[in-house]
Amino acid sequence: MPWCEQCDRRIETDELTADGVCPQCGTEPLEHRRSPWYFKFMLVASIIYLGYRAFQGVTWVVHHL
Ligand SMILES: [Zn+2]
Repeated sequence: MPWCEQCDRRIETDELTADGVCPQCGTEPLEHRRSPWYFKFMLVASIIYLGYRAFQGVTWVVHHL
């Protein structure tokens, strides 16, 4: 799916102009969207969260033995 860096949005294939550029800004869109920073952030955040929950679970078990 083409992605316009300039407009920061996804462009439907049928939205592209005859030249294959973004209909809004005229920039040639990227073939694929770069991995957005927030995706990486969410990944790291969920790993930290799950690690924290696992730590909580372990301490709960230890305290209830
Ligand atoms: Zn654009």
